[in-house]
Amino acid sequence: MSDSFSPDELIERSINLIKQQRELYGDFSTKIDATKPAEEPVIKSTKVEEPSVSFSETTQDTEPQSPPTIKEKTVSMPSKSDLIAQCSTLDELKALCEKEEVLRTDLEGTNLVFGVGNPNADLLIVGEAPGANEDKIGEPFVGRAGKLLDQIMEAINFTRDDIYIANILKHRPPNNRDPKPDERKRSLPYLLRQIELINPKLVLCVGRISAITLLGKDMSLKDMRQQFHEFHGRELMATYHPAALLRNPNWKRPTWEDVQLLRERYDELGGKP
Ligand code: URA
Repeated sequence: MSDSFSPDELIERSINLIKQQRELYGDFSTKIDATKPAEEPVIKSTKVEEPSVSFSETTQDTEPQSPPTIKEKTVSMPSKSDLIAQCSTLDELKALCEKEEVLRTDLEGTNLVFGVGNPNADLLIVGEAPGANEDKIGEPFVGRAGKLLDQIMEAINFTRDDIYIANILKHRPPNNRDPKPDERKRSLPYLLRQIELINPKLVLCVGRISAITLLGKDMSLKDMRQQFHEFHGRELMATYHPAALLRNPNWKRPTWEDVQLLRERYDELGGKP
């Protein structure tokens, strides 16, 4: 069938088409005031409709649009050292330690043994790791070695309330074995923050493991004792571990000499409970 119309028919069809459009959409005639700026169209719907574009339109003179760039928001998690540094009280640090798996040893189901004593003490005692009794009660040095430590402290006029006691590890290792190097490394940042918060003038390490962990150098206890080592702006002394004294009473005399020296230095530095 042919689509050709005579000029008259074309005019008539066009007029009919316009009439239909008027019925549907109203009058097309608009008065445009060229002196006024055109108003921004009000977009009522938030739904953006895809314009229907015919094939011929896309292949003509429209440049392909690059896809919109999506700016990803990166949310950075605080690092372990940030979390530790953010603790401004011993209670906050203890709450963090409660959650930290890195502080655990390979013995399952142990309790946190954070530390105990005067939070403003000028003397801090650092042992190795909790044993079975300490794990049960959640407090350092409560077993036989702990009783001997109390006696040593009493001999130089300190009670537990005057000092603070902590360990390198905050969880008990199995079979009371020595703390492993990687366990000591993982626990150290927490202990260092604990020391900062207590801010003692003197640190007494009982046992070689405690002293080499804090000083960061491998030495014999004999070579470390009877002197004060610089430690983050404080002074640190090392002596025998009370458990070692229970096994070898010959070490009680040198320990007595060490703690007498410690008490003298504490008084010289104006240490207060
Ligand atoms: N030995 C330690 O080193 N620490 C304790 O808490 C108990 C025993």
